[in-house]
Amino acid sequence: MDFRNVEKAFSVYLSLNNGLDINNQSKKRYLSQMKGMFADEVVYNKMLQEGDRLIYEFYDFGMPENAKDLSFGTSICYPGKVGNEYFMTRGHFHTILDTSEVYYCIGGEGIMMMENPEGDVDYKELTPGCALYVPRRYAHRSICTSKNEPLITFYTFRADAGHDYGTIETKGFRKLVVENDNRATIVNNLKWKER
Ligand code: MN
Repeated sequence: MDFRNVEKAFSVYLSLNNGLDINNQSKKRYLSQMKGMFADEVVYNKMLQEGDRLIYEFYDFGMPENAKDLSFGTSICYPGKVGNEYFMTRGHFHTILDTSEVYYCIGGEGIMMMENPEGDVDYKELTPGCALYVPRRYAHRSICTSKNEPLITFYTFRADAGHDYGTIETKGFRKLVVENDNRATIVNNLKWKER
């Protein structure tokens, strides 16, 4: 992708209604791209046979990976579950671990799950208007806990932070968010493993 010229001001339009920018292509993540990330593999495979659903999408506006610039965009995680586990983003550490990120919830309901390499786990509810600071060194994943509304967030982080998806792909997060008695509940990830 060509890097954007950030020596000049620019603006994009990110809808408060659905988080989308009609002038730019989002990056889309489908169920098939999340193999091994949901706890219930049997239900996952069954769902996949019924169709490859869009789980989430987000924007990358091609910011140069420069420590003095910021990257930003929206993330839209759609409602749904694999078994009792809510749809979620893959989640990542920043490649430059010592970088933070701010999320602002535009719509929907959800949870931001966070954990650092030492095993400290934290999570915060996301509801419209909530501005969330994800501290340095914490992996983060957004989870849509609404039955019928997408979770829409705006995010911004240091443009050279980078994304390490591999660690989470291999190990998972220590905690999962599942529906239990009609409520979002945090449970241990029984498949979590030390790398
Ligand atoms: Mn991030």
